[in-house]
Amino acid sequence: MNEQQLLAFDKQHIWHPYSAMDSCMPMYAVERADGVVITLKNGQQLIDGMSSWWAALHGYNHPRLNAAASAQLSKMSHIMFGGFTHDPAVKLAEKLTALLPAGLDKVFFADSGSVAVEVAMKMAVQYQHAIGKPERCKFATIRAGYHGDTWHAMSVCDPDTGMHSLFHGSLPVQYFLPQPSVKFEQPWQDDAIQPLADLLAQKHHEIAGLILEPVVQGAGGMYFYSPQYLVKAQQLCQQYGVLLIFDEIATGFGRTGKLFALEHAGITPDIICLGKALTGGYLTLSATITNAHVAQTICQGEAKCFMHGPTFMANPLACAIACESIDLLLESPWQQKIQQIEQQLKQELQPATQLSAVKEVRVLGAIGVLEMHQPVNLASLQPRFVEKGIWLRPFGRLIYLMPPFIIESHQLSQLTQGVIEAIKEEYDA
Ligand SMILES: *Cc1c(COP(=O)(O)O)cnc(C)c1O
Repeated sequence: MNEQQLLAFDKQHIWHPYSAMDSCMPMYAVERADGVVITLKNGQQLIDGMSSWWAALHGYNHPRLNAAASAQLSKMSHIMFGGFTHDPAVKLAEKLTALLPAGLDKVFFADSGSVAVEVAMKMAVQYQHAIGKPERCKFATIRAGYHGDTWHAMSVCDPDTGMHSLFHGSLPVQYFLPQPSVKFEQPWQDDAIQPLADLLAQKHHEIAGLILEPVVQGAGGMYFYSPQYLVKAQQLCQQYGVLLIFDEIATGFGRTGKLFALEHAGITPDIICLGKALTGGYLTLSATITNAHVAQTICQGEAKCFMHGPTFMANPLACAIACESIDLLLESPWQQKIQQIEQQLKQELQPATQLSAVKEVRVLGAIGVLEMHQPVNLASLQPRFVEKGIWLRPFGRLIYLMPPFIIESHQLSQLTQGVIEAIKEEYDA
């Protein structure tokens, strides 16, 4: 199929994320990707500024990840996890539990981030049921969050951007708190935790868990808030017997400058969800990890087991690649690399604060965000980026950069210069 035929068939028959069928939004046919360079079918090359949505830490087509995949492929790509275990799953669980704070050592492998969140929520409900509090089956969270697209994961996404009104009646009603008012670099103020304190004081008997993306809210708003909020939230959760769930599906594996974002706060949640960068962007895999107390309590409850078991649980191919991706990350000077990316993003995006269309520029770790005053017009902005040889995918009022950690300084400059030039053209024309 040539490029035109391929795009024409796609337009007629295939859904894309959050898209309309037969949409007139720009669409590009991609041929391959190597390192941080994406090559389109028409030969054009783009510098990747998205890491394929937080996932491709080491860039694309990495020889060591390819080798790990081939080696595992020649043994078995998949085997059912009921009644069987295998090296890739055990090694990966060993690595994850060694990297996470002590205590988080009971691992459930699932097949996507959304499912990891479903699993965490089911764990919290089964836990509360097992301790004789079956009425605790709701969840609390903060606005502008994003936890995935499946049913209960969606119920804790921001009610406006998640279109809860559309699904009214079939989505469970959860408790939403305002976004933490203290930003990442601001001094802590105790009144920022008051809404949570008030909610838990009144409604704790209905609430199984509090679910948060620690420090960085991703797809729901690209907002960075004070780690102290998490410290206070944990104290309140302990006081009221509410489980604390951290969704680190976006923030895990170095993106915020720490291996896990919880390290900014120095606290350990009851349950953590990992995904996205877990396999270095090669395959879909996620993990929901809890402590012995929660795990044992669940297994002493009415069901005598945890009620979940996906067909592709702990897929050996994905686990083998995840092990290699973690080794690659830990062997690299990742802290230094992310610091360099952070410094360069701060310096090179600074001029964007002078542009009238830009409301705020913020940078944390290997994440750079340009918040605009108005929602961007993707149909006209996306082709401008591509014309400049860069790949970015803004949403709403947010244009953001989160490149693979292996990006070189001149490539990152091409991204930052490209984004600023594209904005100038888009808004001055
Ligand atoms: C992407 C994301 C999810 C959902 O992961 P999928 O693999 O897309 O199902 C959940 N939580 C957060 C914080 C995410 O960024």
